[in-house]
Amino acid sequence: MIIKPKIRGFICVTAHPEGCAAHVQEWINYVKSKGPITQAPKRVLVVGASMGYGLASRITAAFGGGAATMGVFFERPSEEGRPATPGWYNSIAFTKAARAAGLYARNFMGDAFSADLKKQVIEAIKADLGQIDLVVYSLASPRRTHPVTGAVHKSVLKPIGAPYTNKTVDTDRGVVSEVTIEPATEAEIADTVTVMGGEDWEMWIQALADAKVLAPGAQSVAYSYIGPEVTWAIYKNGTIGMAKNDLERAAKAISAKLQANGRGRAFISVNKALVTQSSSAIPVVPLYIAILYKIMKARGTHEGCIEQMHRLFAGHLCNPQGAKFDEAGRVRIDDLEMVPAVQDAVRRIWPAVTTENLEAETDIAGYRSEFLKLFGFGLAGVNYEADTEPHVPML
Ligand code: NAD
Repeated sequence: MIIKPKIRGFICVTAHPEGCAAHVQEWINYVKSKGPITQAPKRVLVVGASMGYGLASRITAAFGGGAATMGVFFERPSEEGRPATPGWYNSIAFTKAARAAGLYARNFMGDAFSADLKKQVIEAIKADLGQIDLVVYSLASPRRTHPVTGAVHKSVLKPIGAPYTNKTVDTDRGVVSEVTIEPATEAEIADTVTVMGGEDWEMWIQALADAKVLAPGAQSVAYSYIGPEVTWAIYKNGTIGMAKNDLERAAKAISAKLQANGRGRAFISVNKALVTQSSSAIPVVPLYIAILYKIMKARGTHEGCIEQMHRLFAGHLCNPQGAKFDEAGRVRIDDLEMVPAVQDAVRRIWPAVTTENLEAETDIAGYRSEFLKLFGFGLAGVNYEADTEPHVPML
């Protein structure tokens, strides 16, 4: 079939298998162009490995560090005449490329929050790799079925305490408008913490530790975001921010556990705001990203997921001089986003943006092309007019 983008709000309901493969190859090429990463972990488990920061982590670990990787993800498989979600195709493309390069790669499609999937991964580690040196925890999910209670918790993206009004952009239609978001209830805050907080990360590490499949000195990293004041009501001080505070709590608890296991550690990496499936669902944030891209591209400091993850691995995680931590013990690869000159420019542009000047004042064009790329559209060298087989089996 001929596969074209079909955008519905902040989601594209189609994905292009060859386009996704070309996107993955772009990321692999970038990592290879940087040369090998020394002292890299050789057996890596990535939870949330098919898209965004998790996929970029897996590619960096494999093609920069020469690691054997296990990837856990939740995607809609392809069917006869119906494309899969893009992470399905990304994982197939990654696995093909890794195996062609002589690297072990194994995939686990299912619910990372479940006890059953953790068990499957542990059995596979025992059978194939023995132990794991690094666990990357990069889940972004709208819901979680709790493995103990069976209750389904849904996360929300809302402010806390008071309604929040700010500008937002409909990225598809290019319309800037004002949005008011009502504050979350106590139950919604608790649910968001249950879905996006640190409990499941702790459950993964506990299960791996109990099964004795964590190598001495094993490390773990999870990702967070802080961003500028203009987004705080909806992010840092909102429901998702409360979940990220809980992730930081979990990092300390996990770190203490890993420290006792041959001086390992766990930490949070605060990453840059980027176009991913998850960030596009947050009100206000896409407008901030479109402004940020414009400023950072003009300064020559713009990075995507793969540049960010390469910097995390080469500059911190595997740095022979050690990682650099902020006062709260976090790695800050959002440093280039947060420099005062960039944020001063955001503050200057933000109030002036309208529907009429959106193209000129922001990088909305860059935002849109990045968004389409997530689904495998707009990649050089891919013939989008050609007949394409959407049904591709997982490897
Ligand atoms: P993403 O939407 O691109 O990817 C999410 C991944 O989680 C996918 O691989 C998906 O398959 C997997 N997943 C979701 N539910 C699952 C489940 N139940 N079981 C197994 N896998 C599941 O997300 P992202 O933007 O890369 O976010 C990853 C992490 O990085 C999140 O913690 C996010 O808060 C953080 N982060 C994102 C940004 C940003 O701007 N995008 C910035 C800083 C930090």
